[in-house]
Amino acid sequence: MYQIAIDGPSGAGKSTVAKALAKDLGIVYVDTGALYRAVGYYVREKGIDPKSGPDVEGILPEITVTIRYENGAQHVLLNGEDLGDRIRQPDISMYASAVSAIPAVRAFLLETQRSIARENNVVMDGRDIGTVILPNADVKIFLSASSEARAIRRYEELKAKGIETSLEEVLADMERRDKADRERDVAPAVAAPDAVPVDNSGLDAEQTLECIKQIIFKKIPSFKTK
Ligand code: C5P
Repeated sequence: MYQIAIDGPSGAGKSTVAKALAKDLGIVYVDTGALYRAVGYYVREKGIDPKSGPDVEGILPEITVTIRYENGAQHVLLNGEDLGDRIRQPDISMYASAVSAIPAVRAFLLETQRSIARENNVVMDGRDIGTVILPNADVKIFLSASSEARAIRRYEELKAKGIETSLEEVLADMERRDKADRERDVAPAVAAPDAVPVDNSGLDAEQTLECIKQIIFKKIPSFKTK
């Protein structure tokens, strides 16, 4: 099985490029952030402090988080219920980031991620794919861009989904979340030593895809013919 890991901060365009890659290469796309969002969603529903390790750990036995694919699109199910776009709300981003710093949450979601990669060729996007989840991935990319470029993209994405917010708010939320993700003790969002860094501040989605494809084709020539 081939494993492609794409890590990097929010708004770098990881999911856009990973989705397009999966389609072009005929492999499975795994959006791992959605799993942390599902846990964050449940924690918010229950009115629990997402920063309290013991409280969050206490509710984990109550939940199952699974991934299902429909026509190639990933759906995340929380206790069997498809959460759809409800996990994309900005406050769920903050809940996801807070619960993701809790070791028990990371351990809880580890096997779900690894088992998909055992059974499928995957392109997986997240924060610790190349460092923790798939340390032997065939290709590791660390995709990033300036904060401003990333905030504009995230803002446009939210606007297109009809979620009301301002660019300033998106930038501030994003910087807070990225700092917490980078500085946490467990599985910090940093590049694996063997990851190829890609800065796409000046590239559009298509150019980013092309750049990453060239890196992949060099490492896995058989994908070139797909
Ligand atoms: O990628 P996305 O923005 O959906 O992720 C939401 C949050 O989940 C991130 O801010 C990060 O804290 C956490 N996350 C993580 N590890 C991953 C994917 C996401 O800690 N592999």
